[in-house]
Amino acid sequence: MKQQKPVIILFGPQGSGKGTQGKKLTEKLNIPYLETGQLLRNEIATGSEDGKRFASYMDKGNLVPPEDAIALMSKKITQAVSDKGGAVIDGFPRSAEQAKGFPEDINLTHVLLIDLEDKESIRRLSARRNCPKDKKIYNMITNPPKNNETCDDCGTKLVQRDDDFPKAIQQRLDVYHRDTEPLIERYKKMGLLHRINGMPSIEEVEKEIWKIFE
Ligand code: ADP
Repeated sequence: MKQQKPVIILFGPQGSGKGTQGKKLTEKLNIPYLETGQLLRNEIATGSEDGKRFASYMDKGNLVPPEDAIALMSKKITQAVSDKGGAVIDGFPRSAEQAKGFPEDINLTHVLLIDLEDKESIRRLSARRNCPKDKKIYNMITNPPKNNETCDDCGTKLVQRDDDFPKAIQQRLDVYHRDTEPLIERYKKMGLLHRINGMPSIEEVEKEIWKIFE
């Protein structure tokens, strides 16, 4: 396996900017971006039996079963590292059980934790809108589209994700604090953890993250 580039895990609560920053990082480092939630949503969009099962967990803000997440992501991570030498991983692992399923032969180099308070997470997620066509993400407060709720690039009417409503948002945050946050200690002990404040603007957070890789 040829791994010459970073393999990065992104941690942080919902709305902390993992997706926004993760995509910027993959462009700069020229490595694939593996977004667990989006990969699961892609499977749902095919209408498969697996997809239907995933949706039954995700719409309520719960995790899909660990064996499903591990099967999907260990394959994607291994493939990305062998094809492109590295990866930015968003949304995996999300629990101690999943961490055990991280491919053993991959040398994890960085874990970035983007910190954000729950109050701000809820504020941001409630204002999040997505283009169903090209998957571009907007935020009606911090990053609004030019024309009232339509995509700047393709003009499609923006929609809200099925799990971006108050009840599911709160459940996702609860799951993050209960199952995912305890993992941070593990990566801190391994000396891989970098903590970033997620409150400032997209550009400022991007600058802070880039300092780690420059
Ligand atoms: P967020 O992190 O804001 O909740 P994502 O798009 O990353 O949004 O994930 C959406 C949903 O996909 C999660 O609430 C969960 O149901 C499912 N999911 C994502 N990653 C995992 C994972 N590693 N294990 C199990 N379920 C996952």
